[in-house]
Amino acid sequence: MQKIAMQTPLVEMDGDEMTRVLWRWIKEILIEPFVDLKTEYYDLGLENRDKTQDEVTRLSAEATKKYGVAVKCATITPNAQRVKEYNLKQMWKSPNGTIRRILDGTVFRSPIIVKGVTPYVGGWKSPIAIARHAYGDVYGAVEEKCEIGETAYLVICKNGKEIKRSLIHDFDKSSGIVQGAHNTDSSIKAFARSCFNYALAQKLPVWFGAKDTVSKIYDHRFKDIFNEIYSAEYKQDFEKAGLYYMYTLIDDVVARVVRSEGGILWVCKNYDGDVMSDMVATAYGSLGLMSSVLVSPDNKYEYEAAHGTVTRHYYNHLKGEETSTNPIATLWAWIGALGKRGELDKNAALVAFAQRLERAVLTTVESGFMTGDLVPLFNADGITPQKLSSKKFLEKIAEKI
Ligand code: NAP
Ligand code: MG
Repeated sequence: MQKIAMQTPLVEMDGDEMTRVLWRWIKEILIEPFVDLKTEYYDLGLENRDKTQDEVTRLSAEATKKYGVAVKCATITPNAQRVKEYNLKQMWKSPNGTIRRILDGTVFRSPIIVKGVTPYVGGWKSPIAIARHAYGDVYGAVEEKCEIGETAYLVICKNGKEIKRSLIHDFDKSSGIVQGAHNTDSSIKAFARSCFNYALAQKLPVWFGAKDTVSKIYDHRFKDIFNEIYSAEYKQDFEKAGLYYMYTLIDDVVARVVRSEGGILWVCKNYDGDVMSDMVATAYGSLGLMSSVLVSPDNKYEYEAAHGTVTRHYYNHLKGEETSTNPIATLWAWIGALGKRGELDKNAALVAFAQRLERAVLTTVESGFMTGDLVPLFNADGITPQKLSSKKFLEKIAEKI
């Protein structure tokens, strides 16, 4: 067959360990035979980040700004042990953090729904997507310990002069702790716009919950900004699309989410999103079935899997063992990126290929062929699930295509 042509390159961000191995196989077995793949390649593997003083990460984010669509492999965020293991010049920052800062984006995570893999929560029929604000709050906070006899104040200065002072706590009877967190209107506004744009594109209603009854200034500011932006910029489009925006208390959202059928965008403040996305991923089945996309306020897209580099499997792979690591979330990143590239370039053949690949992955699992993590979750009448190695699984998908 004639291979599908591409006009604009994808920004390709290669990564580490087991996912780097899967990356190469996905390209060889499922993409390059069908698509005349055009990418601008950035090697974000830890060795190359170290070699380039992490310049490569910055350049890959700049390229995403230029071309608009990137696909990223999972990468190691080094800790002390990795510095030793890879003999690093320094403990480089999280590449995802760096890319997020440059693109100023919001992370959307959504479970991949496969027939036969049933969520732990019986009522969930459609995906629950989570939008996590990736700036500020407790993640950018300063903290101190206080001894008996110390007093903590919140002090606001202007031009170096104190203009406001409020008592936080007088530690007269017990020692304790204190924390100072912040956020900015501009970040919250960008977050709100990213969420409403994503919801319109995915045709999902938006639920946002915070604790404005307790946090009457801080959380209330989130609520107000979301309301203002929704009414002024999105309400009409939402109503035309038959969608809605709802704000309610975080506790109420949690209860409603569990009772729901899914099919919503759940907007979370930073901490809530960190915690709740793990809960949602696990409740739907497996980390290997959670997809993730970073969307900037000016609509640049970076697709990736939500899981890490699956280190434990990689060490087995290095010993020569065949591993059964689930490549679906990484495949979803490629499907999302190719589909979006096709959509932006009005390349119908590329869009159709992305859809075909998605169907091939789903029908492969539905017909009983899968990686080991899915076998205990699979339940379909008359089908005995078969555990395949990653490579055999990818080859099965190629047969379907
Ligand atoms: P992980 O790579 O997500 O893996 C944790 C465990 O989850 C695995 O050992 C495996 O469980 C299971 N798992 C995850 N993905 C799977 C898949 N596709 N198929 C089958 N099982 C899967 O997390 P980690 O081991 O904590 O972190 C490893 C490295 O990844 C770290 O260096 C971290 O910095 C990095 N990381 C990167 C990203 C990113 O780039 N977005 C995100 C998170 C972590 P079993 O061992 O039970 O099979
Ligand atoms: Mg988390």
